Amino acid sequence: MSPETAARIWFLTGSQHLYGAELLEQVAEQSRAIPGMLAASGRIGTEILWRPVLTDSVAIRRELEAANADPTCVGVIAWMHTFSPAKMWISGLDVLRKPLLHLHTQLNRELPWATIDMDFMNLNQAAHGDREFGHVQTRVGVARKTVAGHASDPRVAERVGDWARAALGHQRLNGLRLARFGDNMRDVAVTEGDKVEAELRFGVSVNTYPVTELAELVDAASDAEVDRLVGEYADGYRLAPELAPGGERHASLRYAARIEAGLRLFLTDGGFGAFTTNFEDLGALRQLPGLAVQRLMTDGYGFGGEGDWKTAALLAAAKAMGPRASFMEDYTYHFGPGEPKVLGAHMLEVCPSIAAGVPRCEVHPLSIGGREDPVRLVFDAAPGPATVVGLTDLGDRFRLVANEIEVVEPDAPLPCLPVARAVWQPRPSLPVSAECWLMAGGPHHTVLTTAGAGALRDFAGISGTEFVLIDDRTVSDDFADRLRWNGAYHRLARGLV
Ligand code: MN
Repeated sequence: MSPETAARIWFLTGSQHLYGAELLEQVAEQSRAIPGMLAASGRIGTEILWRPVLTDSVAIRRELEAANADPTCVGVIAWMHTFSPAKMWISGLDVLRKPLLHLHTQLNRELPWATIDMDFMNLNQAAHGDREFGHVQTRVGVARKTVAGHASDPRVAERVGDWARAALGHQRLNGLRLARFGDNMRDVAVTEGDKVEAELRFGVSVNTYPVTELAELVDAASDAEVDRLVGEYADGYRLAPELAPGGERHASLRYAARIEAGLRLFLTDGGFGAFTTNFEDLGALRQLPGLAVQRLMTDGYGFGGEGDWKTAALLAAAKAMGPRASFMEDYTYHFGPGEPKVLGAHMLEVCPSIAAGVPRCEVHPLSIGGREDPVRLVFDAAPGPATVVGLTDLGDRFRLVANEIEVVEPDAPLPCLPVARAVWQPRPSLPVSAECWLMAGGPHHTVLTTAGAGALRDFAGISGTEFVLIDDRTVSDDFADRLRWNGAYHRLARGLV
């Protein structure tokens, strides 16, 4: 059972004994209906587990400690159905380590104007109880997302769904092992970062391994495994005739398969969920890993080129939040005519999960690295809304910079470009997006994801990471002010060490 399929959100309901056992039975019955309504929306994507109603501080603390200890619990939703005096929640909230969402709702959608009496008032008083709970969460200083509205409202379900995906991303990073083959590309600044802080903040453990260990596994891959992978390539992609069995460059495809076999074995044996490569440090590898990296990303592995472990970790989280996500890099611009656009790509390593149509499998020279021509998948990204997000280390903290984009069809075919690519219009415009991204010190490597900016914001909130979003509402001057205020806030919030 994979961690994703085992993931559950716990649904907790607060009440108390003031109203008697009969009313508590009604509370339990009503509260069971709320997870059902959320699940019926189809927007949550994670099982919501109803838990018995909580009515005293000992039970509440025990429940939240149990949530901490259960590896299948990715987060906790809390709803104060009746009036649950919130001092009962202080010690539980203080020990809670899992993501928290405060859902402010009530079972009845309409107020029964003609029949409402004090029994109804006493039973349906979340308007009262959740305010008490909101107060104590603020007083304790517990990080949480607050969502208000009727549980049948699609907007409520969507906001809960964003948080649920963020919780899955958070869970993915917690305990993630990330392997770096080689260090950073020489002299590059933004791919550097504090690995100790990353493990503390996100739970990801980043370590370096000699590429020679990988090369030994690549050389040792069996012909049978290579044959099997070549069969998968022929079935899954539009194979260039020169790469097909009998083609004059079939040996290049077989070597690419050998890389995939060795890399998979290394990652599986070591329990790794993400990795980086560096084209300046390939040891005995004869090709820069291209096809293998693209296929491993499809399977949910995080990846960053040039030693970029932060983007590799971010991609692993994004993959848990939604399968359509890829390593990406802002490459070059189209300033016009027409709407300005960004052409995003990488040397080779773009994930086919974002492809429109069946990728082509081709071999072309790589003008840097000095190795044999690497095999890669070539495609255009599917049009539609997406977000590019980058993780940067400012020295005293991490900052997530995100930009809402619209992936579009290229204005014209790109017959000479031998790599997978995405063409997009950034919100609100290319100049404003680029100005804000540069002012924020955002990286050139990003993750392109369809998980949505709401889920990314919640992911940042859960891990206590600064998040700045460039979207349709963004104005450069206001954004510059926000960066200054954020700088002040985050330095104060960090406290003194
Ligand atoms: Mn790069």
